[in-house]
Amino acid sequence: MSPEYTTKPTVYDNVQHQFNKAADLMNLDPAVRKILAQTTNEIVVHFPVRMDNGDIEMFTGYRVQHNNALGPFKGGLRFHPAVNIHEVRALATWMTWKSAIVDIPFGGAKGGIQIDPAKYSPRELERITRRFTFALGNNIGPEYDIPAPDVNTNPQIMAWVLDTYLSTMSPQERNRCIHVVTGKPIESGGSLGRNKATGQGIVFLIEQWAKDHSFDLSSATYIVQGFGNVGGWAARLLHRYGARLVAVEDATGAVANQTGIDVAALEEYARAHRGIQGYPDAEPIDHHAFLSTHADIFIPAALENQITAATAPLLTVRLVAEGANGPTNPDGDRILQEKGIDLLPDVLCNAGGVMVSYFEWLQNKRSEFWELEEVDAKLRKRLIAAYDRVQEQAQKFATDWRTAAYIVAFSRLTKVYRDRGIFP
Ligand code: GLU
Repeated sequence: MSPEYTTKPTVYDNVQHQFNKAADLMNLDPAVRKILAQTTNEIVVHFPVRMDNGDIEMFTGYRVQHNNALGPFKGGLRFHPAVNIHEVRALATWMTWKSAIVDIPFGGAKGGIQIDPAKYSPRELERITRRFTFALGNNIGPEYDIPAPDVNTNPQIMAWVLDTYLSTMSPQERNRCIHVVTGKPIESGGSLGRNKATGQGIVFLIEQWAKDHSFDLSSATYIVQGFGNVGGWAARLLHRYGARLVAVEDATGAVANQTGIDVAALEEYARAHRGIQGYPDAEPIDHHAFLSTHADIFIPAALENQITAATAPLLTVRLVAEGANGPTNPDGDRILQEKGIDLLPDVLCNAGGVMVSYFEWLQNKRSEFWELEEVDAKLRKRLIAAYDRVQEQAQKFATDWRTAAYIVAFSRLTKVYRDRGIFP
């Protein structure tokens, strides 16, 4: 049976559970509740691509647009074998909350292709990306729906999306449309600081949490799951405070070293070996041992459903800072709360990425180019303001930070729906 028709719980069930909890607690306006409980558009495209050996393969791509009350649909494109409509729907919905929480004028969307990119050559990936972009056609656009990188996609892939989109326009239109995608290479209109933005945002928020709890980051220990763009940058930037990375896990395995892992050396190793397994300056450990590692901070920066009824009891950390989208399911949330583990929820914690995407979009629209210091300063200021808003709601409603973050988002969206009304 195709995953589209599965009756097993999906990651979208987690979204609905979280949604209902916050909506009940704040007594969300029933009309707004009905609107936000559904996505706006769900686009599924099947398209053929010629492989290097001359054969034709069919691919399935998705773009789900959840809501655009606050601004154009916005969110990444993911290339992964586990991509399906439920996952993309969940990820699109989280993007709406994320943009609303950090107060940027975007709605929520997400897309992806169900593939394992490691199985394709760079030229094949280019053709797959271009053909997918072409299939999406006018469903994306610089003032309508703006893709960005996500799991297994990067600035190079965004450059192909850009070039394909612009190639379908008249030459006169092209240069005013480069903000159709963000996370581009700098030379193609990208922003300084975008590549590290998600990791940087996580670290700014951890720093704020540490300040609030009089916690000394220079003697802290941390573990990271996922060593791609988000996990890698978060690991590297937290290291600069003097904190010690004591265990890392990625798709190939896990390694630990209580005296501290050299982040730069591990990154170099992971690049050369397509993963961290076999890294010589640490012990190989299994998944169970990774999650049980004694540390102060856990940064899940891989996929969904990692902190669950089965795994949350293993954690000994003080703080979970969610770099991934949806790493904790509702059982996991409950157990973290019972254990008194603090949480920086994904929709706040990893919002640095979309925040700097917004800065990139603005720079493109204004033909500006901002210095890195300017990008970082604006990112920090706006994320800390969002942190304060979430903290305030957590106190007001005596609730957990995920629910509080949702309340911030729903309040903003409610105001817009009340002001604007429903047509006709
Ligand atoms: N994929 C990232 C996220 O999940 C970034 C989205 C964007 O920049 O639009 O937040």
